[in-house]
Amino acid sequence: MTDPAQPAAQRTVIENCAVATVDAHGTEHAEGHVVLAGERIESVGAGAAPSGLSDVVRRIDGGGHLVTPGLVNTHHHFYQWLTRGLAQNANLFDWLVALYPVWARIDEDMVRAAARASLGMMARGGVTTAMDHHYVFPRGAGDLLGAEIGAARELGVRFHPTRGSMDLGASDGGLPPDFAVETTDDALAATEEAVDTHHDPSFASMLRIGVAPCSPFSVTTELLRQAGELARRKGVRLHTHGSETVEEEKFCHERFGMGPTDYLESVGWLGDDVWMAHCVHMNDSDIAAFARTGTGVAHCPSSNARLAAGIARVPDMLGAGVPVGLGVDGTASNESGELHTELRNALLVSRLGPHKEKALTARQALRLGTYGGAQVLGREREIGSLEPGKLADLVMWRVDGIGHSSIADPVAALVLGAAAPVSLAFVNGRTVVEDGRLVTADEDAIAREARHEARRLARIADGAG
Ligand SMILES: [Zn+2]
Repeated sequence: MTDPAQPAAQRTVIENCAVATVDAHGTEHAEGHVVLAGERIESVGAGAAPSGLSDVVRRIDGGGHLVTPGLVNTHHHFYQWLTRGLAQNANLFDWLVALYPVWARIDEDMVRAAARASLGMMARGGVTTAMDHHYVFPRGAGDLLGAEIGAARELGVRFHPTRGSMDLGASDGGLPPDFAVETTDDALAATEEAVDTHHDPSFASMLRIGVAPCSPFSVTTELLRQAGELARRKGVRLHTHGSETVEEEKFCHERFGMGPTDYLESVGWLGDDVWMAHCVHMNDSDIAAFARTGTGVAHCPSSNARLAAGIARVPDMLGAGVPVGLGVDGTASNESGELHTELRNALLVSRLGPHKEKALTARQALRLGTYGGAQVLGREREIGSLEPGKLADLVMWRVDGIGHSSIADPVAALVLGAAAPVSLAFVNGRTVVEDGRLVTADEDAIAREARHEARRLARIADGAG
């Protein structure tokens, strides 16, 4: 019986489309339907939608389209939108040293502009859940996390921002300059405040906060240890960079007498509430430790290539049972800022590794970008696959245009072909993209604002330099 006090859920019916559900069995329908009721998926299946549905507010002919779960981005640094295309030929450490002085000049207006652009770019490419790892907090710069959260709310994207931090300056043996770091106590206090102010643990939550000291070479052991305790006390997830480059591995061996994974484990940083970006330089015992503890990985193939970091052992991780999602990483090391192109890059890069043609399939790449991402963010019961009862986060990709119409199957068209246009994207059943454009914000205004703030940052950094 429906409760007469509750308004009936409004339904959206999508029919006549190919459907890749990305459920546990990899169920696909060459011609099928999806019915949304309010914020949930009500039914998915082959052929036409059930007949006699009431309260249908929109009926969509999905001819020429593939419907998939919305993409989930698991690693990003929005502020870097303003510093794209710099230090083009550097590896990670040289690139960081070149950019830290610029990043240390960011303020709230800059971060708001960068967040709107980063989120807008991802949403129009099918991302329905975004994360951000923000770890640069210049004194007096304003409410940087609040600016990002406001942007995600405006655009309608589900958001997992993490309160990052750096407290190991160069004078203490760290990589960042002293002026770019906070004190340990300040970082922890601000992190706790961010969780208390913003975190929403409820089902269908649009906003969950994570705790994210930046990396082994930019934070103290004490900050890592206490951040872990803080996150567990609050019941939120932990995130950091791990095993990204050979230089990081060398740093950890010299300073701690062990590799990054052993070091992070020694401070309580392996567990099913932790996910780490990159994990490129992992030996067999590192992968086994991630699998044993349920620690997740944000695989960022384009950024790893851009910074010459190496090829992550994703097929081995998946084989061992490690949860793996995809990330664009910050756009100073992946200027496109698009996740749907990472599906293709994940597949291509993995085939350059030792597994060759036995490496990722197109279906596995799609799974990394959807269900895998949901898993590493701890949301796999809510999002990541198209199943009745899950949240209505989904994308209609147009695959009958010039770029895709002759590719043998729609999943291959999405993963191997050119970046597919998004005809519609829904988050919690609400439309966020239609005909490839953001519904909730003016893209041209976002582009102008981003250029203005990028130039302002460059002027300030030059003046300070
Ligand atoms: Zn990163």
